[in-house]
Amino acid sequence: MEAHQWFKNGDHPEDDCGTFQVKGGKPFKGEGHVIRYYRDPDDHGDRVCTFCGFPMHWHGWIDKSDGGQTVCPGDFIFKNESGEWEAEHRKKYEVRDAKHTSWVLKKIDEFIAAKDDE
Ligand SMILES: [Zn+2]
Repeated sequence: MEAHQWFKNGDHPEDDCGTFQVKGGKPFKGEGHVIRYYRDPDDHGDRVCTFCGFPMHWHGWIDKSDGGQTVCPGDFIFKNESGEWEAEHRKKYEVRDAKHTSWVLKKIDEFIAAKDDE
């Protein structure tokens, strides 16, 4: 599974932000295509996320068919089975990956044990 870790706008290889220029202003980076800005008019940007501890205005957003998902800085972004982008929290991702690794190692052990029996 290919996953990319996201920290800030433009981090995802498919974000393709582009650069904008307002007359008289400095050029600035546009919003990512995969990870958008987290902007909720009912939520304060300075509110600290209970999940990761970073302020909400450091967060991203993924549009989804069932609404959307908040992206914490450091989250891993991957495409799920239905072809939609999905964010998984760093800690959860690491736990799952560790499980996967131990599963692979177990399979290798089984393979070696089977070879020894021959
Ligand atoms: Zn967060």
